[in-house]
Amino acid sequence: MPPRHTSPEALLKTLSTNRGRSDRLTHTEHLPSRPARHSSWPEGIRPEIREAARGLGVAEPWAHQAEAMELAKAGRTVVIATGTASGKSLGYLAPVLSDLLDGTEARNGRGTTALYLAPTKALAADQRRRAAELVPPRVRVAMYDGDTPPEEREWVRQYASYVLTNPDMLHRGILPGHARWSSFLKALRYVVVDECHSYRGVFGSHVAQVLRRLRRLCARYGAQPTFLLASATTAEPGVTAERLTGLPAVAVTEDASPRGPLVFALWEPPLTEYVGEQGAPVRRTATAETGYLLTDLVESGTRTVAFVRSRRAAELVALQAQALLGKPLAGRVAAYRGGYLAEERRELERDLHSGRLLGLASTSALELGVDVSGLDAVLMAGYPGTRASLWQQAGRAGREAQGALAVLIARDDPLDTYLVHHPEALFANPVEATVLDPDNPHVLAPHLCAAAAELPITESDTELFGPSTPQLLAILERRGLLRRRGDGSWYWTRRERAADRVDLRGSGGNPVQIVEASTGRLLGTVDAAAAHTTVHTGAVHLHQGRTYLVQDLDLETSVALVEAADPPYTTAARDITSVSVLSTDTSQEWGEARLSFGSVEVVNQVVGFLRKRISTGEVLGETKLDLPPRTLRTRAVWWSVTEDQLFDAEIPFDRLPGAAHAAEHASIGLLPLFATCDRWDIGGVSVPLHPDTGLPTVFVYDGHPGGAGFAERGFRRAVQWLTATRDAIAACECERGCPSCVQSPKCGNGNDPLDKAAAVRLLDVLLAGAPVDGTPADGGLVGGGLVGGAPPEAAAEAQAEDGRHRASPE
Ligand SMILES: [Zn+2]
Ligand SMILES: [Zn+2]
Repeated sequence: MPPRHTSPEALLKTLSTNRGRSDRLTHTEHLPSRPARHSSWPEGIRPEIREAARGLGVAEPWAHQAEAMELAKAGRTVVIATGTASGKSLGYLAPVLSDLLDGTEARNGRGTTALYLAPTKALAADQRRRAAELVPPRVRVAMYDGDTPPEEREWVRQYASYVLTNPDMLHRGILPGHARWSSFLKALRYVVVDECHSYRGVFGSHVAQVLRRLRRLCARYGAQPTFLLASATTAEPGVTAERLTGLPAVAVTEDASPRGPLVFALWEPPLTEYVGEQGAPVRRTATAETGYLLTDLVESGTRTVAFVRSRRAAELVALQAQALLGKPLAGRVAAYRGGYLAEERRELERDLHSGRLLGLASTSALELGVDVSGLDAVLMAGYPGTRASLWQQAGRAGREAQGALAVLIARDDPLDTYLVHHPEALFANPVEATVLDPDNPHVLAPHLCAAAAELPITESDTELFGPSTPQLLAILERRGLLRRRGDGSWYWTRRERAADRVDLRGSGGNPVQIVEASTGRLLGTVDAAAAHTTVHTGAVHLHQGRTYLVQDLDLETSVALVEAADPPYTTAARDITSVSVLSTDTSQEWGEARLSFGSVEVVNQVVGFLRKRISTGEVLGETKLDLPPRTLRTRAVWWSVTEDQLFDAEIPFDRLPGAAHAAEHASIGLLPLFATCDRWDIGGVSVPLHPDTGLPTVFVYDGHPGGAGFAERGFRRAVQWLTATRDAIAACECERGCPSCVQSPKCGNGNDPLDKAAAVRLLDVLLAGAPVDGTPADGGLVGGGLVGGAPPEAAAEAQAEDGRHRASPE
């Protein structure tokens, strides 16, 4: 790549002094370079592997890789949680391939086997390439997924020693057909769980149960595989690994790979003269601001990628920069997104690599080829949702020796606002953890059915599947799904396949199919639960970055008919929601206030939608809808304050609804900082006088039946979470509330009423009584001590009727 001579500091100075922008730069972080720390190869890694690694430029492993290798060889469950490009895969591949190589010396040529699980097919394909570079062909590496032809499948079962697949295939194919896999499972030494931070929420809880089913069958065949996990940097990776596998795990987190210096800037676009909902001021969109910054960077000859959220935004940023630059520089900027042909993408990557292209606006880091690294600058239009993705995107900037620039441009929402004003949340220790709840009976019940179909369940399996197992088994028996035989074991009684009753990635119920009306083409599906809010008649629906208008939602047939369209507005559903407390699991006094965690029932009805202009957020109109109410039993965290506290906070009763509502919105916006959810995974309700608590109460709940672990994490980190919420509201420079602080893009109530100032006082009076160490009731909640979710009876009902929902109003 051609050299660049401007330092990242100088670049940033140019950006921030141009056109009176100095107040938009909220923070600059200088991340120094980090030298590599090497270790020698641990005992037991075969010379062939070391030799091959040397051929790829690795003479000695980095210290964290060596540590992981040693733990793996010792049979410990290990999770490697280090940065992007820190060689996590060599850390687990070296011991795995080394042992597989040993296994080729067995009489049948397959004395040892290993299983690799990736969340996506593309990642599995990449893994095959890496493995092939490190071992001789006599270690047979094979993919096993939906695309594997039937004639090849038999070969894989009989001969492959390293099988690369995904959790869905394990759940639907391998486990139910375990008899045909018996020789593979007997020899199973390792299970690699790559990108394990992507197994979160309900999906993660399902995967956790699939892994327990795998462990049970392996034990039956006399194998006890070691689990090796790779994760992006998150808080508490060890806890996540234990919840996922059900085994004690060691976390390797000290990154010993080298890094070049990086200047990381936080940037907040200015307020505009436009007004949005309730007359609130609106900021310039992150997309538009990114277009300006990209223009300046390209003008100064800086090779830059701008990461944006949608295909449409990628096109917009590129067009904007091209228009501002004019000829000839306009020709050196392009958009890059999913949907381009492979050749087109490779060509763009080559052009960027060679320097012919200077600016690229791209949808997602994952879509970019491996060649696109070592850039001079990276722009990120909006916080990508997790620190893991943030660092993945920022990590594209910089080569070892030369410094680079990364800029995060805030979107108009409370989390982004908080982050650009609280850099420590990004640059100090990670705060968000990968959250899942395998004990959710809605998740566990169908897996017990699947497990029973694989191998009758006995009393001793309770330990593996968790404390709610006996109760659930009894219920499943009453419902005629399982039968207990004379030997005391439970058997699956139905003709259909039990595994087909679970979709790991869906939250249950019949997903709604999105069909293009003019062609009849199936574009994709949305969860039944999300359908009312996202694909109601008249909704603007984004699917893989493209925009569609929903012509009709038919609930009978679960079909949404759509047509590609380019309306100048987005839509936001309006709904009515009520919450009742079913049971309180645990609660804590915060002075006079009280914080609780438990099970709730949420009844939600979508009643209409608003149309908002894309460019400005301005409300264009409202339309009524006639949809039935939906009921969700889930987990929630809630807090209530007393009348005396309201008096102290000087919040008269008529301002209470606006205060509680605003605090609720902002807290939902901030929870993703502590749990890897997005605000669409959770919902909230605020009530001035709640019948169950008899007090003003704010609820935040998981938007999935039985819960997903997000509300629980909120309870455990309540002090930090609600303090951040309070600070985010207070930090916003708007006068009476705006999308950057207390307004919500998914408010079911049109963001009315909202009282920003009173919300800050309400949170102040709540937090005044909070425990100082800020870790409520930790012991009881970590490690799955809870019997999660709604009552098991309800879970089994839902399982039998498939009537599961998800709803997440705010
Ligand atoms: Zn604001
Ligand atoms: Zn609301």
